Amino acid sequence: MSQQPESDRTEGDLRNTGMELKHERTWDYELDRIVDAVEERDAMKVGLQFPEGLKRRAGRVADDLRRLLPDETTVLLSGQPCYGACDLDTYMMRRTDVFVHFGHSPMKESDKIIYVPLFSNVEVTPIMEEARAELAAPEEDDAVGLVTTAQHMNRFDEMQAWLEERGYTVETRRGDERLTHEGQVLGCNYASADVDADQILYVGGGKFHPLGLAMEHPDKKVIIADPVNNAVHVADTEQFMKQRYAAVHKAMDAEEWGVIFCTKIGQGRWDTAEEIVEANDNAYLITMDEVTPDRLTNFGFDAYVNTGCPRITTDDGPQFKQPMLTPGEYKIAIGEKPMDSLSFDTFHGTW
Ligand code: SF4
Repeated sequence: MSQQPESDRTEGDLRNTGMELKHERTWDYELDRIVDAVEERDAMKVGLQFPEGLKRRAGRVADDLRRLLPDETTVLLSGQPCYGACDLDTYMMRRTDVFVHFGHSPMKESDKIIYVPLFSNVEVTPIMEEARAELAAPEEDDAVGLVTTAQHMNRFDEMQAWLEERGYTVETRRGDERLTHEGQVLGCNYASADVDADQILYVGGGKFHPLGLAMEHPDKKVIIADPVNNAVHVADTEQFMKQRYAAVHKAMDAEEWGVIFCTKIGQGRWDTAEEIVEANDNAYLITMDEVTPDRLTNFGFDAYVNTGCPRITTDDGPQFKQPMLTPGEYKIAIGEKPMDSLSFDTFHGTW
């Protein structure tokens, strides 16, 4: 149901709904699917949850929906922070008849939840062409592992065909149940890169995704083709490892530990948190949803272990006043494991 002639749309434009959104070329909010669900369920309350980067569009999506839905329907917007499909607003989910989660592919399907994945419309093959300089020529090594993020998943077939046309054999797999698609990686899960290839082409943005990928697969060359920032790099984990070693060293003197159990629906690792607290009388279990430096300040523990989203430790780690470690790093800091066992913290399963 496009509001705009095909000729006016850029190639790859996924927007096919929208009224207020008619100048928004990037995303398809699938309003028809939401309206159908409201009708089917005679819903009175519709909850919308957007990731941080799309919250500023929430008002316009609500405007469009209000116009399309019966007057008595109430549209609510989640004000909770949201960084992934692991991070559903469960309060809103329980209190609305239709709950829509935008921006992430499903971590776990449920009749209650409508997931609207939002894909980028950026072209991927120009940056892949540049990345060829870092790939071995097909006559030397034709096997390439291909991975991408949910945002670019709509072009995965195109990426694969492009490589095949240039003589490569593309190795892909679907990682585990935490991942929706073949070839998809998350900031906490790179199981899709576990393929029979010595080189992995990661098409996507972000600094830490490919670092985690490279640390998880140290035997492979990880080439990053970032179509959003138009840049190609080979992942280099050295700086990152130094930062992690420094945090572990600093935590070695800690007497009291705070062990964080994250209450977000897809970020809970209870067994991991409990195991640490049971084995250490000086470790205290802290439950919280959003893990920020401010929220920990008043506890005053010497160091923390984060069993929630691994990105909090790796991306935000330096912002915490005390060392913030992953569960694996904690074991190194207390002498239970050798220093060279340091690895990237990954998260498997759903809830
Ligand atoms: S746990 Fe963190 S990295 Fe994993 S999906 Fe959730 S927000 Fe992303």
